[in-house]
Amino acid sequence: MRQNIFTNNQRPPSTIKDKTQQQVLPNYPLLLNKTQSTPTQEIKSNYPFSSYGTSTLNTQSQQTSAIEYYNQKQYPSQINYQQQQSGMTTSLSTTQKTPSTISTMTQSQPEQYQQKSMINVSKGICGLRNIGNTCFMNSVLQCLLNVPAFNEHFLNGDYLKDLNSKNSSVPNEYSKLVATIRNTPNFQSIAPYGIKSAVEIVMPCFKGYAQQDAQEFLVGLLDGLSLGLNRVKNKPFYKEMNDNLNGRTLQDLSKEWWDYSKSRENSLVLDYFQGQLLHSIKCCICSNSSYAFDTFQDTSLAFTRAFKILEDMDLDRLLDKYVIEETIDDYYCSKCKKHQKVKRKFTIWRLPHILMFHIKRFDYRRFSSDKLNHRVKFPLELDMTKFIQDSLDQSTKNCQYSLCGIVNHSGTLYGGHYTADSKNPYNQKWYRYNDSDVREIDIKQQRYDTDGSSSPYILFYARKSLY
Ligand SMILES: [Zn+2]
Repeated sequence: MRQNIFTNNQRPPSTIKDKTQQQVLPNYPLLLNKTQSTPTQEIKSNYPFSSYGTSTLNTQSQQTSAIEYYNQKQYPSQINYQQQQSGMTTSLSTTQKTPSTISTMTQSQPEQYQQKSMINVSKGICGLRNIGNTCFMNSVLQCLLNVPAFNEHFLNGDYLKDLNSKNSSVPNEYSKLVATIRNTPNFQSIAPYGIKSAVEIVMPCFKGYAQQDAQEFLVGLLDGLSLGLNRVKNKPFYKEMNDNLNGRTLQDLSKEWWDYSKSRENSLVLDYFQGQLLHSIKCCICSNSSYAFDTFQDTSLAFTRAFKILEDMDLDRLLDKYVIEETIDDYYCSKCKKHQKVKRKFTIWRLPHILMFHIKRFDYRRFSSDKLNHRVKFPLELDMTKFIQDSLDQSTKNCQYSLCGIVNHSGTLYGGHYTADSKNPYNQKWYRYNDSDVREIDIKQQRYDTDGSSSPYILFYARKSLY
């Protein structure tokens, strides 16, 4: 079952969280953020629901007012901008020309023509102003806003049929944001106050204007959407899931776990972002096997001591490590009734439409916390076939993914800046979003697949069938 972030609503410092994970899985290099092995906890019971009035956006006039809503918000002048101190571009008002716009005007005639054509056919290429150290949020939003197909549910009002009136703030604000961006001329920028406030209700740790972790914001945003769009209105009680086959196949068992998970939480977020992971353990003494199928959302790929510390890495190798079998010397076997040596293996069982890889660059395990600036190589086209070969219910066709977004982090653990590269789903062109500044980039020139880069922090891949 997917562990909900609201369990650590009183969010501990990331250092503590990572140390805890490290203690639980001392030798396992690749940790899943969002899983738990047994569905025994009532994970949302402590969630502080805030009453939030239903505010829907289902007419054109309301969508227009959403634009005014965003544009009328005043840009705070009292905020100390880390980005300004470090020379990063921050924001421009919507009426100012962004650097991208200016450069467009000085381009040669054919390029100018090309740019104009693109503006006519493609919407949604819009900067997000930095409203106070919010580059962590802007970079995540720019990736999510360019996920193919997903945002159409918010644009056409389809999401409203699942909307939970008590938790409507995140879905409604996200919908307003999608609509506002689609209705803003390309290469201008808007201030994303509404979505920030909405996520703050769900995750109070994002209140204020401190620097935050982009991956934690991504988790908070998706959980806010999932909560507000959960199709399950009356959850069944928790039950212990079978962890052995009892004569059935793994296919049967996986379906049982998946159906149970969906009986409690079933939303657009699950439709697009959640997959299933098989966690199998086999006792080396009695051969007793147990299985748990966890729902996963984002996959955390960590650099560990298993690798030479200065070694560059590629996504393929990180994933190989993810599914490798390992031996654990001291694990409780329910058949032997004592701790034994076991073999443990993670298998990606069911792939989501959108695969998100979190590259764990922030290392809190050493004596001094540090950021790991390893270069990571990753492909523009990703074939996941070999990683789910144990799972027989996935066709090869469904294993083909295209890179659609990158959250980049530059700087250190204590001060840095986030930007996003993402692929517009309509014109298939790539843009670099640096808060309010947007410019087109040639993704092939970045040479991510051959030279790699030290800045990618979260990678988004979309199933090719979504385009
Ligand atoms: Zn045993």
